[in-house]
Order: sequence, then structure tokens, then C-alpha cells
Amino acid sequence: MREFNPFFKKFSSKAKKIAVIYPNRYVGGISNTGIQRLYFEVNREEKYIAERFYTDVFNGLRSVESATPLEKFDVALFSIQYEEDAFSAVRILSSSGFSGKKIAGGPCITQNPFPYLKHFDRVFIGEAENAVRSIVEDELTDGLFPLSNKRRVVSLDTEMKRQIVADGAYGKAILIEMGRGCPRGCRFCIVRQIYSPPRWRSRDSIIEIAEENIGLAGKVALIAPSPTDHPEFLEIVSELQNMGYEVSPSSIRADRFDEEHAELLGDVKTLTLAPEAGSERLREVLNKGISEEDVMQAAEISSAKKIKLYFMFGLPGETYSDLDEIVRMVEKIRNLGKSVQVSINPLVPKPHTPFQWLPYGGDLSKNAMENIKELKKKRDYLYSKLRRIADVEIENIERFAVQTVISRGDESMGDFLDRKVRLSTIRKFRLERFLEGFSPDYEFPWDRIDMGYRKNRIRREFEISMEKAGIEF
Ligand code: SF4
Repeated sequence: MREFNPFFKKFSSKAKKIAVIYPNRYVGGISNTGIQRLYFEVNREEKYIAERFYTDVFNGLRSVESATPLEKFDVALFSIQYEEDAFSAVRILSSSGFSGKKIAGGPCITQNPFPYLKHFDRVFIGEAENAVRSIVEDELTDGLFPLSNKRRVVSLDTEMKRQIVADGAYGKAILIEMGRGCPRGCRFCIVRQIYSPPRWRSRDSIIEIAEENIGLAGKVALIAPSPTDHPEFLEIVSELQNMGYEVSPSSIRADRFDEEHAELLGDVKTLTLAPEAGSERLREVLNKGISEEDVMQAAEISSAKKIKLYFMFGLPGETYSDLDEIVRMVEKIRNLGKSVQVSINPLVPKPHTPFQWLPYGGDLSKNAMENIKELKKKRDYLYSKLRRIADVEIENIERFAVQTVISRGDESMGDFLDRKVRLSTIRKFRLERFLEGFSPDYEFPWDRIDMGYRKNRIRREFEISMEKAGIEF
């Protein structure tokens, strides 16, 4: 792997050694601005030295920089980005002989820290910028659960002064976090809940970062949950292009993609859009705010020959005719002369979202295993309809059941993270309760965390979505 700009600090007996661990593949970790920021902040301090660990480099047991075994480090800082990364994190801890301080943060910890408490000395809820030293030294209570139960939020005005440029998920690119949080109100979305309030980085700050890193890469990746919502998106893209950069936004919303965007972003091979549901009715249940017309218009005006579409299934009130609407949308795009790639995931009803009361599978009248059976039927139905007209990928239903269990689990889940949980484990240890629906008055473990919203508000959102889905509860 070729990297530009990593730190090479010499170990000294006085420096505290901090392992920054991304328990997943290098390509994702190197493209994550949060982890890069953490690495930069720790190394900026004279009395610390940070080195990185990824699961596909020395199996996560030795550092990238100096191949030093994890057991030689004093502190391990884990960033858990996806639920299943918890298995890798626990495997790394148990097979490395590490005996120092274990701290975990990242979106999965922020959404629900309870399943992780058994394996870490501290878990961090929220945003860790400008606080890494205090976290390592135990001087900060803000965000460190259980010393504090309040999510820590920072302003976006400080920037990552230095970053490693390498071939990551965006190719070889300068990463610029354009915004955090999302002003939209999609009811299934954890991003808007754990990164609220929405914040944008100013145009000046974005240009300054691009100027400071000029020469390191020919491309800038503009990263945000919804970059095209930035009030100066077009001006920023244009300015970066005038500096000689190719610009790649992390995603594009169909309702923001017009002729001006298409022209400015130039020739693209694939345009990725996320209608999430095939029918207008279900998009209203989700509060997605994108119409079929938006999707068709974006597909039509884009120079891309391939349109990649993201959908979910297992939605509340979903019928087979809603699934047919997915097929119809794909056919309509094919009729524009474009090829279509379709990625379909079962909905994972996440903590803190208005869908947290839903069962996995979406049908409140069914128990966990009945919902899983129905999801499998729907998966087969979608495959049979789509495989002749699109390149289709449907995520593994049992794997997503495991994700649901980890994301909604409580402290008892900790006992299962040191084995690879499967559907059979879920049944054997009676973890199905985390897949079931909940009554609106149910007290979730994560209700104890102050995320900055009132539960009544998301309950009202849930009620509205149920009304729109035609479900009584
Ligand atoms: S637009 Fe995307 S990031 Fe924003 S709330 Fe909807 S799904 Fe979440």
C-alpha cells in the first residue's frame, strides 16, 4: 500500500503508545475522516505516538507503520463503524494479548453503547475531536459513558490540517468533510439522529483545505451525508475544479440533481441514487422526500450509462405490489437506454429513529421468525423479477438480523460478541426479543442517553408513519 503523509514517529520510553484500530478493511478505514482526525490529533501531541491497525494488515494484530504488536501499546482506541466490526474488535483484543486501556467510539457506540460495555473500559458517545488527550487521560467526562450520558457535539470550524492520502474508497483523493448531520427527515436514518444538528463546513474552509493539500492527489472527495444539500455546493465544486481538482461527492440526492449539477460534475460512469422504496406511498412512510419523477429526471439528464439504485425492503405496510414498483422503476430506467445495478437491503430498525419500535421485517403482527421467513420470500420474489433486467444484489437476511440484534441489544449482548453470532445463536440464546417490535411505551436501554431530542417527537413521527402505512397499533 502506498501512502502519502503518514506520521513516522520514533518510539521512546517516555511516549505513551496509542493504537488507533479500525476493525475492518484498510480501504474503508483510510477513507474515514473521523479516524484520520483521531490519528492526526494523537500524533500532534509530543508525549504520544499513534499507529494504525486494520483487519487486513497483519490480521489487525500489528501496526501498519512499524509492525509493532498490539500488546506493546498502552491504549487501544477502536472506532466501530458497523455492527459486525464488533466481532473483529473483540477477536483482536482476545488474540493480541493486549492488556492496556480499551476505549471504543464511533457511530455504533453512539447509537447504543450497551452491547459493548463488557469488552471496553470506556465507551465514547458522540464526537471526539479536540478531546482525544482528555479521553486517553480520563480527564474528560463529556461523552464518556457511564461518567456522562450526554452525546458530545463539536462545531465543524476546525479542520483536519494533515491527512494521509492513499487509495481508499474514493480512489486516491483528498478527503474533505463538507458537512455533518443531515437536514432531511428520513425516518429510518440513524445518521440524522447521531450527528444532529446538521452543520456545514464553510466554502472558505473547504477551499483552504484543498489548497493546503494541493499536489497530494488530483481528486477531492466531498464527504457529507447529503453533500448536494450544502447551500454552496455548486460554487464549491466549480472553485475546486478551477484549482485543477476532479471532484467526487460522497452521494447525490435525486431531487437536487439537475442539468447544472450534471454539467458541472461532467462525465461519470455510474450515477448512484437512493430512492429506498419503489412506491410513492412507502417513500412517504419513510419520509424520503424523493419522487419517482426526481429519480427519472436524474437518470435521464446524467451522462452516466449505468444507474445504481439503493432500495430497502421489510418496510412497514409493505405489500408485494410495492415490490413490483421497484421492478417497474428499474424497467423505466432501462427504457432510457441505461443499464441498472440494484442493491437492496432489509431495513434495520435503528435505535433513536422513529422506526425503533418496529420489528426486523417491518410487520408488527408477526413474530421475529415469521418476519424473517417473509423477508426470505420477498427476497426470492425480488430476485425472480429483477435478475433478468438488472445486476441485482440483495443483502443476506440472516446477516442483517444479526446487525439488528447488535444495534438494539443490551448489556447481555456482550456475552455473544466473542463468537460469530448467527441466526442459530440468536434462537439458541433467545435473543429474538431484539428482533421483535416494541410497544410505544417500551423503555429502551438507550433512552438513558441524552442524544439531544425528545422521545415524544420521534414517537409522533412513528405514529405519522404508521398512519401513512395504514397500520393500527
Ligand atoms: S437524506 Fe440521507 S442522510 Fe439525510 S436523513 Fe435521509 S437517508 Fe439520512
